[in-house]
Order: sequence, then structure tokens, then C-alpha cells
Amino acid sequence: MSSESSLRSLLSQSLLPSNEAKILLAHVLEKHYQLPRSALLSQDDMTLNPSALEEWASLETRRIDGEPIAYLLGKKGFHGIELHVAPGVLIPRPETELLVDIALTEIQQKIDQDQVRVLDLGTGSGAIALAVANLAHQALVKATDLSSDALVIANLNAAALNLENRVQFSQGSWYEALYGSDIKEFDVILSNPPYIAAQDPHLSQGDLRFEPNSALTDQSTGLTCLEIIISKANQYLKPGGLIAVEHGFDQSSAVVQLMKIAGLQNIEVHLDLAGHSRVTSGRKSNPQ
Ligand code: GLN
Repeated sequence: MSSESSLRSLLSQSLLPSNEAKILLAHVLEKHYQLPRSALLSQDDMTLNPSALEEWASLETRRIDGEPIAYLLGKKGFHGIELHVAPGVLIPRPETELLVDIALTEIQQKIDQDQVRVLDLGTGSGAIALAVANLAHQALVKATDLSSDALVIANLNAAALNLENRVQFSQGSWYEALYGSDIKEFDVILSNPPYIAAQDPHLSQGDLRFEPNSALTDQSTGLTCLEIIISKANQYLKPGGLIAVEHGFDQSSAVVQLMKIAGLQNIEVHLDLAGHSRVTSGRKSNPQ
């Protein structure tokens, strides 16, 4: 016989989808009892102590009210690393791993260079910058954000991953964060800027309601930040350097056009695993 508050009863009585209830209850078990997720099954008649029970009830209610799981857990996996996340930063998305893969492929081709300089504009939790630095050991990354809340979280993540010596953060709007820095030329520029149009109904649905608006939308057509980033890329790229930006699935032709206007070359549109065009890249010309 299991008690009313056994793990088994808590899961079966929960109003959440079963996979979500299990994730949240496993989190409570880990935090309060240092137990692994497998305890959900192996100790399913265990009862929670009052503080664990209170935490479970609060997480369950907050999730029912729509808060993203990643904010409730305070973490999110991204491209092989775990990142601390909180309401001040966008939750890293699996689609954005494509941008990291493009950067890694580019960096791997520069075996003759001891250092490859990478710029991540609008880094948020630091996801792109840290995932690149984690797998490309010759990468020296500069990552920027306008939000000081985001930079606090990004710095915590860099420290937790032991990457502070190769990832440096600066505050400012896009390239303005580089004012005063001695490094102004990069091999690779990356960005996942806010590209959702202000009128897009998705902004008032699901997880997006809880994420920072400034990380999601430019409050305009969706293209204004992409335009700033692309139009100035030539000033900050080394000859032959690569810029790659994430964008909405229906924005690739507009982004290709922005890259043409900016005088970038070798423009390529990249598809994510679902077959959507999510990233576009271009290069600064190399006169040699
Ligand atoms: N990829 C996110 C979404 O569609 C948006 C992120 C962004 O605007 N950079 O939910």
C-alpha cells in the first residue's frame, strides 16, 4: 500500500503531463535527498518530507501556470554542456546548436592558427560562446550582451565550465560592446539576435511569455537587429572571416539580401534537423 504522498501517488495524481511531472519530481529528489532519477521507480513508495513536498507542490503549480521547465530547474542542456538559466536570459534552443556546429567546422579548418578569434553578439546565458569554446580549444571568444542580468548569468556559466580564460564578456549594444577593447577583428562572428516580429502571436504563447522580450523581438519587423549585425560585419571580420546568424524559418531570403547589400560573399543558407532554414552565413572578401 502506498501512502497518499508516496512518489507513485504524487505522479499519478499530478495534473501535469507525466514526462514533465517526472522531471520536476526527480529534481526535488536530487535536491532534497541527493537521489538519482531512477529513485522515482526504485523507491516509488517513499514519502517526501514537508519541505520537499512543499517544493514539489510549488513547482507543479508554477508549471501548470506555464513557467518553462528550464527556469523551474534553473538549468538547460545545450550542445553537450549544462547552462544555468533564469528569467533574465533566453532558454537555449536545440535549433541554435546548428550555429555552434557551423562555427566549429570553420574553426577546425584553421589548424594553422594557434588562436581563432570568435565574437558572439547577444550571448544571453553564454550558450553559443561557451559551447564553441568548450569544443574548440584554440577559440578565444568575446561575447556581448546589452543586459547586465544576462552577463551575470553568462559569467557564472563560464566559471562553472572553467572557460573564463577563453571567454570574455562585455556589455553593450551589438558591436558597441567592443568600444575600448583592443580586439576588433574576428575570424568568426556569430549571433542569435531577437528576430521575432513584434506582431507575432507566438510572443504571447507558451514559454516565450516568460522569457525576456528583448531577447526575442526587436519590437519591429524582426529584421532590425539582424540588419545592424550584418551591415557592420565587414568592419569587424578578418579578410575571409565568416559571419553566421540565426533567424526565423521564413527570414532567409531577407537575410541573404542583407548580406548581399553588406558586400559579403559565399552566402549560404543552412537547414536545421527539421529542414527549416535557420542560419545564414557569409564571408568578408579575401583579396589574396
Ligand atoms: N528561436 C526562438 C523561438 O523561435 C527565438 C529566439 C530569437 O529570437 N533569437 O522561440
